[in-house]
This record gives sequence, structure tokens and C-alpha cells, in this order.
Amino acid sequence: MVKPKKHLGQHFLTDKNIAEKIVGCLKKNEPIVCEIGPGTGILTTPLLQKEHIKELHLIEIDEESVEYLQSHYSDPRITIHQADFLKIPLQNITKSPFSIIGNFPYNIGSQIFFKVLEHRNQIPEVVGMIQKEVAERLAAGPGSKTYGILSVLLQTWYHIEYCFTVNEQVFFPPPKVKSGVIRLVRNQTQQIDCDEKLYFKVVKTAFNQRRKTLRNALKPLAVNGLPDHPLLSQRAEQLSIEEFVILTNLVAQTISC
Ligand code: SAH
Repeated sequence: MVKPKKHLGQHFLTDKNIAEKIVGCLKKNEPIVCEIGPGTGILTTPLLQKEHIKELHLIEIDEESVEYLQSHYSDPRITIHQADFLKIPLQNITKSPFSIIGNFPYNIGSQIFFKVLEHRNQIPEVVGMIQKEVAERLAAGPGSKTYGILSVLLQTWYHIEYCFTVNEQVFFPPPKVKSGVIRLVRNQTQQIDCDEKLYFKVVKTAFNQRRKTLRNALKPLAVNGLPDHPLLSQRAEQLSIEEFVILTNLVAQTISC
């Protein structure tokens, strides 16, 4: 047994059927899979039953869990990396495409997804368990109150599906909130039709003042004032991905002129 450590977000899943169900959400049959935060391996075991997996990289920050994994798992497909997923350069793991799976430590859920975005062309599929509320937010579409920065940025490059809810009681120790499993699949988008850096900035700025109309929320970015455009009288949570691209080009015009 590994004693759960709160600061590492350790809530160990205890239900093997749910572990199998999570692993079953990986559908793209990528030969290389990376598991974030395997802990004592409840997801690792069903992952090893998948024959299409040729390399399984376990990235675990906790020394005690790493020792546990080393003494319980000897499958030659496994490589254990004792590392912080947020810090480890992904080329140290593999230069090929790979899928990600994990019962993610909740305190760094958003940061994991920002890292996925940075490396989106190497990551065709992600299956992750996070707080239910966050999972719902990431999968939300325009018009929903929970639609936010990460929903827009992730949905620009991924199709997102909310898979199922997991109750508190199947973890040790139980977390305070329910969990949700989501699945991300890389879409066809390569280049967006606007400056990508500015797109990130516009999305973040627009949602930072989400109650304001976009004309007001984006004032700090638009040095020379914004033109007349119907999108600017809406609020961030109403806009689709395509409309955020249009918005970014409106802001770009005011910067270049
Ligand atoms: N997959 C296991 C454990 C989930 S708890 C299960 O379902 O039972 C989250 C796990 O992530 C813990 O094992 C914790 O040690 C690990 N972890 C926390 N922060 C991490 C980080 N930055 N990088 C890698 N692993 C991390």
C-alpha cells in the first residue's frame, strides 16, 4: 500500500470495473500510451491487457508510488519515469505520437491540458478523469455558463466528449466532489485563420471579463479602438470557435493600423 498524500492529489481509485471502463474509452489504438499519475497502477493493469499497446510510459512524481510500480509491474512494454508531467520534456519520453490517459491529480488538471495543447500534433487522443465540474466545463459549448478559456482553446484542436461520471465513494480517500471522465480526439484543424498567439490572448482576455461585452472586455488589447462589428456587442460565452477567429482578426486590424 501507498499512503495517500494530499499535496500530490492522491485519491486512489478502488473499483476495477471503473478502471476498465476508463481504459475502454481509449479508442484510437495508438501503439504508444502515456499514463499520467499511475499511483499503484489500477489503470495500468487493464492498459497492459490491450495488445495494441507496444510502449506504456508511466509518469509518476511520487517516489513511493514509483517503488510500488517497480516491484509489482515487470511487463517489458513499461517504462517508468519518476517525473513531474508538467516539467518533463515530452521528447524525453518519445518523439512519436502517443495517447494520454490518467486519473489526473485534480490540482494540476488545467495545466495538464495546457501542455496537451502545446503538443497537440503529437497527441491524437486523451482520456482523463478530472473533477466533474471541470470535465463538464471543458466539454461545454457556446451559450453555456461554464464555457470558458480552456473549453475554447481545447475545442479549437480537439473534439471533446464527456464520457461518464464517477462517484466519490470509489476512491481512497474519497474526494470532496464527483469526478468525470472526458475524451479528447484531435480534429482536422492544423492552421487557424488568424495569428495563433493573438488568438490565445484574445480568448483569455475575453473570458477574464466574461460579463462585459466583447467591445469592453477587449479594450486593453485594441490599441487603436475596435471597428463596428456585431460580434463586439456579444459576450465571450456566446461565441463559437469560428467567431473567436473572426474576433482575433478584428483585434489584429486595430494593432496593425
Ligand atoms: N491512477 C491512480 C492514482 C490517481 S491519484 C488511481 O487512479 O488510483 C493522482 C496520481 O498523480 C498520484 O499517484 C500522484 O502521485 C500523481 N501525481 C501528482 N502530481 C503529479 C505530477 N505533477 N506529475 C506526475 N504525477 C503526478
